[in-house]
Formats: sequence, C-alpha cells, structure tokens
Amino acid sequence: MGKTTIVFASGNMGKVKELHDLLNPLGFDVHEQGRYDIESVDETASTFVENALLKARHATRLSGLPAIADDSGLEVDVLNGAPGLYSARHAELHNAGSGDQANNEFLLQQLEAYETTSQRSARFRSVVVYLQHEADPSPLIAQGTWEGHILKQPAGVGGFGYDPVFCNHDTNTAAALLDKQTKNKLSHRGKAVAQLLELLRTHS
Ligand code: IMP
Repeated sequence: MGKTTIVFASGNMGKVKELHDLLNPLGFDVHEQGRYDIESVDETASTFVENALLKARHATRLSGLPAIADDSGLEVDVLNGAPGLYSARHAELHNAGSGDQANNEFLLQQLEAYETTSQRSARFRSVVVYLQHEADPSPLIAQGTWEGHILKQPAGVGGFGYDPVFCNHDTNTAAALLDKQTKNKLSHRGKAVAQLLELLRTHS
C-alpha cells in the first residue's frame, strides 16, 4: 500500500521533518507547503484554533491533499493571555523593536512590577489541526499546554522565541536550558502532536 501524502502548512523544515518522522510509521508522508508553491496565508483569525484551520484550509484547497497546520503562542495570566496570538510580534506591535530578543526584553519590562512566581504564571499553548479536504466539516483538533512562569531574567541559549524567559514547571528551569528531546517530550507542541497522532490512528 502506498503512503498518503499530507501537506504541512509551514515553511519550518525542522517542524516538517519532525512531523514526517512521527507520521511515517502510520502510513503518511508529510511535505511542506512550499513543495506545492503554496505561500503562507495571513493569520487574521482571533483564536489559535481558527488560525490553524485557516492555514490548513488554504493548504488543502491549493494542493488538493489533506493538510495539517499548527498555531502556538505564550499566554501570560497577568496580561490577560497576551501576547497570545501575537507572540511572534509582541514587541513590534508595541513599537519596542522586533525579534525574539526584543520580545523577551519587552515582556520582562511589562512584568517588572510583579514579584512572585504565581503573579508571573504563564503557559505555552499549541493547537494542531488536520483537514482531510477543503470542505471537511469535522477537522481533527489537538491541543497541548506547558505550564510555567516568566523568569526575571533570561537563562540559556537553546530553543527559540520565549524559551530563555519561560521557566517550565516540569523541570523548574528555563526552556532554553533543555535539550531538544526533553523539550519535545514536555512541551505544548509535543503534547499536541502526540494527541493528533492518536486522533489520526483512531479516525483515519
Ligand atoms: P508559531 O505558531 O510556531 O508561529 O509560534 C508563534 C510564536 O509563539 C513564536 O514566534 C514564539 O514567539 C512563540 N512560541 C511558540 N512556541 C514556542 C516555544 O516552544 N518556545 C518559545 N516560544 C514559542
């Protein structure tokens, strides 16, 4: 039996390869959307789920193949869930520079007045969706969270994004201090992908 091809609505080859390796034993080949000349779509929705669906729908419409998409971000409780959907551009949206380092510096500044770990509570959230075709009325939707708090200063150089300022409550260290394998096992994205694998195993 041949493998079923799934398009991943992402240009991040690290993510694509990781998903391909996980789904291949279940009978799927995962290809990045660029292989089909599909460009990324604007993430205009107001929830992680809707943004992921928007990206997956765009990819399946243009490729004619089933598609997977993900969306993720950091939620800080005292900021009412910000930066949330806007995690990648948090500093930029507040005219405080752009990029990971500016995002981290701006977030630390926003939290300056909050002293305790519980006041600085936060989580990463990841949503991963699967659409069989453009008009699929019942997408598979998987979610994962990773609880922690925001440190008072960055630690570690691994990972990306907010990893240096996010102290995860599994190991009680900055996410940027974890090796890739440990982070994948504990993280929001690792949990969401594991849940999606289970859904694909039982629904497809
Ligand atoms: P995306 O959904 O992969 O595009 O991620 C959106 C943004 O959320 C990233 O640009 C980061 O700022 C933040 N983010 C999501 N996941 C992580 C993570 O595992 N570590 C650090 N930052 C993350």
